[in-house]
Amino acid sequence: MIEFKRIPGVDYEIDRWSEGIPHHPESEKLVRRLMAIDWECFRGHFDWKVGGDGDNGETLMFELDIFFDERDVQSGVRAPGGKMSDFRTLTHAEWMAEGTRRFGPDYDKWRFVCPVCGFVASVQDWKDVGHPDAVAFSCIGRWRKDGIDALTDGLHKGMGRPCNYAGGGLFKLNPVTVVFDDGIEHRAFEFAD
Ligand SMILES: [Zn+2]
Repeated sequence: MIEFKRIPGVDYEIDRWSEGIPHHPESEKLVRRLMAIDWECFRGHFDWKVGGDGDNGETLMFELDIFFDERDVQSGVRAPGGKMSDFRTLTHAEWMAEGTRRFGPDYDKWRFVCPVCGFVASVQDWKDVGHPDAVAFSCIGRWRKDGIDALTDGLHKGMGRPCNYAGGGLFKLNPVTVVFDDGIEHRAFEFAD
């Protein structure tokens, strides 16, 4: 037996299947690519299957989820215990109250964390790049020269640079749903600590 070292802050007992928690985006990406490579180059030797309870590709993804969770916690992408699945819904009034309680009434000083790269930006930062329309929605790396790519580099936190994640893109990762009085919902970044 190989000695198993547990990384503090990683949830090893997490049951993503029954709790309905999505896979780590990198597990998803890796296994889907491996499926294609397996068939294209190895005549389907492993025959990875995904989407059903007990599928071998799902188990592989669960194992990779832990691997990537460990990496994220160690590199500081996520606070220990933090999961990408910490989604919540607030009314606009509740959201305003929480922001004010955390950062005070000066909206420019409110800070949000990108769900992909972990970069913390203030409302002023979004204004500085000319995109107050994208506050807490798309990462400011989209408009900065030092921006990194969300898909290839965004999850490698520790670079200290913002990514080009777009809240309106294919992957809807913004964890906070803000419901306005007229029923319109807006998906936002989480407040920074
Ligand atoms: Zn980002």
